[in-house]
Amino acid sequence: MGVKVCKFGGSSLADAGQFRKVRDILLADPTRCYVVPSAPGKRTPDDDKITDLLYRCYRKAQRRQPYAPLFDQVAGRYIDIVNDLGLDFDIEPLLMETLEQIRTGSPDFAASRGEYFSGLVLSKYLGWDFVDPADILKFDRQGAFASEWSNELASAELARHDHAVIPGFYGSLPNGDIHTFSRGGSDISGAVIARAAGAEIYENWTDVSGFLMADPRIVDNPKPIKTLTYRELRELSYMGATVLHEESVFPVRKAGIPTNIRNTNAPDEPGTMIVLRAEDCIPTDTITGVAGHKNFSLLTIDKAMMNSEIGFGRRVLQAIEDFGVSFEHLPTGIDTMCVVLPDADLFHRKEQIIERIRDNVHPDTIELTSGLALIATVGRGMVRTPGTAARLFGALAKAGINVRMIDQGSSELNIIVGVDVEEFEPAVRAIYEEFVDS
Ligand code: ASP
Repeated sequence: MGVKVCKFGGSSLADAGQFRKVRDILLADPTRCYVVPSAPGKRTPDDDKITDLLYRCYRKAQRRQPYAPLFDQVAGRYIDIVNDLGLDFDIEPLLMETLEQIRTGSPDFAASRGEYFSGLVLSKYLGWDFVDPADILKFDRQGAFASEWSNELASAELARHDHAVIPGFYGSLPNGDIHTFSRGGSDISGAVIARAAGAEIYENWTDVSGFLMADPRIVDNPKPIKTLTYRELRELSYMGATVLHEESVFPVRKAGIPTNIRNTNAPDEPGTMIVLRAEDCIPTDTITGVAGHKNFSLLTIDKAMMNSEIGFGRRVLQAIEDFGVSFEHLPTGIDTMCVVLPDADLFHRKEQIIERIRDNVHPDTIELTSGLALIATVGRGMVRTPGTAARLFGALAKAGINVRMIDQGSSELNIIVGVDVEEFEPAVRAIYEEFVDS
C-alpha cells in the first residue's frame, strides 16, 4: 500500500480549530503517514503570520531594541493552541529558550522556529514521531539545496518511522546552521519528503480547492481544473496562477509523483491533481486554463535582410543581457525581431538598451512600447484539436481586441498573445467564454 505525504499551509494551522481539521484529515486515511506543517498563518485578514513576526523579532534584536513583547505574541499563539487542544505539553520553557537564541541566531534560525513549533505541537497532538528537518534536509555552503544528499538522508530517516511530522521551510547547512528555503518554501519541503518517502501522492493542503481555469477576479465563477500536467502547471504559474511554490514541482515531477492540491476547509472536494503525463489526465475542455500578466514592454526592431545577417539575434540579446535584463519572449518575423521584456527589469535602462542595440546591429527602426499584457492560453488538448488558434483569434476579434503579439511554442501547449494593458481583462474573458462551457 502506497503512502501519502501531506503538507499543510499556514492558514490550515492558524489556530486550534484548524489543527483539529488537520488531524481529522490525517486520520481519515491510513495511508497519510508523513505530514509537513507550515508555521501558523493569519487567522483574519489583518492578523500576522508567525513567520513575519519572527523575522521582525530578529530585526529588532539586531538593532538592540526590545523584542520580547513581540515574541510574546508568537509564544501566545502556540500556548493558546496547546491549551485549546488540551495537550499535556509544557511548551513555555522551549519558547523562552528560543527567545534567547534569537538574540544571537541568524534570520533563518528565527524564521524557522515557526515551523519547528508547529511541528512539535502537531506531533504531540497526533502522537506521531517528530523528525527535525535540520538533520535530513541539507543545503551546500553557498546555500543551494542539496537535493540528492537530502533525498538519501531523508529516505533513510523516514524508513525508521511509520508516521512522522517533519516541519517545513528549513533544513541546515553542512556546518549544522539552520537554513531556510525562500518564502512559501514548505511546499518544497513537502515535495522533497514525498520523493524521499516514495509517496504515491503528494497532498498539498491549502485554503483553496485547487486551481481555477481563470482568475476569479476577472472571470465570474471559473471552473476548477480537475487534472493538469506538471508542464501545464509551469506555463500557468509562470503567467501568474500561483497556488504552489514554483520550485516545489521539481522533486515530485522527477519522481513521477502526482501532487494533489486540496482544501483543508472543504476536505470532501477533490481539488486539482497534477500529473506527469497527459494520458493520466481526465479528458476535458480543449484548454486547461487561461492566465496572464500585465506590465510588459515590446521592443520591435526592423532591418531589411535581417534573416540573412548571421549573429543578429545574438547581438540584440547581448545588448539586453549587458544591462542585466532577462527577456520573456522572442517572436520574430522575416525582417522584424520583437523582444518582450518585463517593465520591472527595464526601469531606467530603456534608453541605454536602445542605444546599445543601435550600436550592435544598426537597425532601420527600433521602437520600445510599454503597456503590453500577455495572456497564455494553456492546454494539452490543443495539440489534437484543429482550429484552436482560429477560435482564439476569432473570439478576440469578436470582442474588438487588437492582438499586438503572438507567440506559440512548437510544443503547442500554449498560445501566448500580447494585448494592450486596458484590454487585458476583456481578452481573458473572451478566451474563457469561447473555450469553456459555463
Ligand atoms: N512559513 C514560511 C513562510 O511564511 C514558509 C511557508 O509557509 O511555506 O514563508
